[in-house]
Amino acid sequence: MGNKIRQNYETLAQNLGFRFDVDGGALYGQRGTYDVIIYPQNTNYPYMLSVSISAQRQTGPLTKDACKQFKRDNKPVSALVQNGNVITMSLKNSSKQDALFENLNQALNALVNFLRTEGFQNCCQSCGNENPSACYVSGSYMLLCPNCFAKLQNDNTMAYAQKQNRSENVIGGIVGALLGSLLGVASIVVLSQLGYVAALSGVIMAICTLKGYEMLGGKLTKKGIIISVILMILMTIFGDRIDWAIVIAREVEIDIITAFRVFPELLLNDIIDMGTYVASLVLQFLFVLLGAIPTIINTLKSNKMQGRIYCLNGAAQNPDYDNCN
Ligand SMILES: [Zn+2]
Repeated sequence: MGNKIRQNYETLAQNLGFRFDVDGGALYGQRGTYDVIIYPQNTNYPYMLSVSISAQRQTGPLTKDACKQFKRDNKPVSALVQNGNVITMSLKNSSKQDALFENLNQALNALVNFLRTEGFQNCCQSCGNENPSACYVSGSYMLLCPNCFAKLQNDNTMAYAQKQNRSENVIGGIVGALLGSLLGVASIVVLSQLGYVAALSGVIMAICTLKGYEMLGGKLTKKGIIISVILMILMTIFGDRIDWAIVIAREVEIDIITAFRVFPELLLNDIIDMGTYVASLVLQFLFVLLGAIPTIINTLKSNKMQGRIYCLNGAAQNPDYDNCN
């Protein structure tokens, strides 16, 4: 999460009287008698928010018509759905901070009033008991009672331990990274031949190589990242040379394989300018970095967050639920 977005979230939390969980990127607090979690629908659109409340009533879940009517009555709302005990309200995007707060505050009040009128009671989303708290569970947020939290914490610790134990298949990873990098090579050649400045091809090279390793290697560890980066560098040089070979083949009317083979000679004999070659290659590497850095940071971060489970109320850093109530 960028600094600017973080600051805006902090301001938003303050204005709402909520708190902000920096690690997971959500706001949480209470409105009326309900516990509320607010989070972006998609991390690429940080100002398109969703609001979740866990609640139930004797007469069963909300009807589709009631949800539709609520959406019609409240302009900032793009959808209202109930899934089990979880009622999620999605809001339209507002890029201006003032409008974002106004819309969110207004929709939140409307939702709380609506649920109270409809006879909904705050509850644990898993078992329906009272006293839920906002919890972070391996990448998502839940509203859970102490019992359900303790159970999940236990299960999660086991699942995480299993995942950690699952051995990394390095050979599979290399094969996956190689296949991914071939897509990168193809995109370098195709985009360059079409005459585009190929920032996109560098990004494709980086992402496909890393994802390829992860898919066939089972997980992407630091070792996998190093292997992938070496492959990216080699395959970028390879793709760039194919690109040159196609140009040479066209210019002097020889076949591409011959052009590919004689390329170093042309370079050494100054028939192709070394400066031009190096400059274009460096540019291509920069584009690869552009794709690789965010992907690597996100992977390492999600690896770290995967094993995490904690209760938010007052103890975002403390995984022990008992300390939060
Ligand atoms: Zn429960």
